[in-house]
Amino acid sequence: MATTKVSLKLIIHKKCRRRRLLFAEADKEFVDFLYSIFTLPVGAVTRLLKEGGGMVGCLPSLYRSIENMGVAYIQPDKDKRFLLQPNVVMPGAKLPLLLPNVGSTFRQLYRCPYSCNSSNCSSYVADDNSTICPLCNKKMDRIVTFIDPPRAIRASPNSEEGYVKPMVTYLVMDDMEVKPSSFSLLATLLTKFNVKDIGDIEEKVVDVGMDEGVQLLKASLQSKTVLTDVFFLAEPIGSEESIEDEELRGYLRRRPRAER
Ligand SMILES: [Zn+2]
Repeated sequence: MATTKVSLKLIIHKKCRRRRLLFAEADKEFVDFLYSIFTLPVGAVTRLLKEGGGMVGCLPSLYRSIENMGVAYIQPDKDKRFLLQPNVVMPGAKLPLLLPNVGSTFRQLYRCPYSCNSSNCSSYVADDNSTICPLCNKKMDRIVTFIDPPRAIRASPNSEEGYVKPMVTYLVMDDMEVKPSSFSLLATLLTKFNVKDIGDIEEKVVDVGMDEGVQLLKASLQSKTVLTDVFFLAEPIGSEESIEDEELRGYLRRRPRAER
């Protein structure tokens, strides 16, 4: 886990009927965070979002029922923590720490000290160094090194961290689509968003920490306008009738009436 805050540059159209967030420019760190959402176990997502109605559906109820289930009903070799606080396995990925209590794990493996002889002890590995070898009854406390083939053949040490390459600017759309930035893509987007003059564009850099990380995760499950929801809802909203932009009208209609 590398940093606890990453920057995101919001690109805003300030000459719309209302200021409007168009998309964001992001470095590798933010994109790695978005990609890492797919590595989260459902149990970890539920734990993060169950409070305050942050998650729809029945999973929060299932989560609470596991919390409340008496240990007498759980198999003696199982631990409820494996369900309620599952670890995230991110092999080779050093990622920005933007979600609380969600850590990547590296599972250390052990083998029987007699693995080098001709016995079949070498067939067994354990993730607890107090495990007893089923063949010779010795403690399996010899550390085993896991070789990740794709990592072993990589040339650059930097390439081991995260998912996407550094030194590239990525464009993140409001619906979380991510693309590498390019002149032609920027031109296409500015045309699409009806930006007539580059002076109508405003840039705003925001810090993304754990609060925003959880909000982004929550919004990603409920909304098609995630960046707007998380970073822009504090902005003043014009009346619905004065807004010509069809997309924005649709967005306003989807929001709860109390917010309008
Ligand atoms: Zn053994």
